[in-house]
Amino acid sequence: MSSEPNCVFCRIIRGEIPATVVHRGDACLAFLDIQPLSPGHTLVVPTQHYPTLDRMPEQLAGEVGAALPRLGSAVMRAAGATGFNVLINNGSDAGQVVPHLHIHLIPRRAGDGLGFRWNVRGYQPGEAERLAESVRREMAE
Ligand code: AMP
Ligand code: ZN
Repeated sequence: MSSEPNCVFCRIIRGEIPATVVHRGDACLAFLDIQPLSPGHTLVVPTQHYPTLDRMPEQLAGEVGAALPRLGSAVMRAAGATGFNVLINNGSDAGQVVPHLHIHLIPRRAGDGLGFRWNVRGYQPGEAERLAESVRREMAE
């Protein structure tokens, strides 16, 4: 099992620093975020150290993902929420601060004022199809 000596989430998994654990599974651990965006804001982390989603083996990613429907539902109901956001900041340029993959479960309520800024843009003619073709090629490798 891979574990990093100085990684804060590995240290939580090893029990070296405290966390408010809400679920303990073979593949993942879930605990409350210390700086919650809303009450019940939970982090789901693989029990093995992987920095980002794109570096995880598919089977392990599947095992972590399989916990999300029941866990998300439990967090939402326990927090008295009516929805939740599932968010991964994958890579530092995407806002990742702790380099051990974690999935944010953020309980939401109507009118809670939490928002995400989507600065949408369009595609130039042909750009979407070129991008899609690149993705299909990458997937085939
Ligand atoms: P990210 O920007 O996606 O890397 O988010 C990192 C998250 O980890 C932040 O929401 C922090 O509040 C949270 N966090 C950092 N250290 C701890 C800790 N010791 N226990 C719980 N949550 C933590
Ligand atoms: Zn780690």
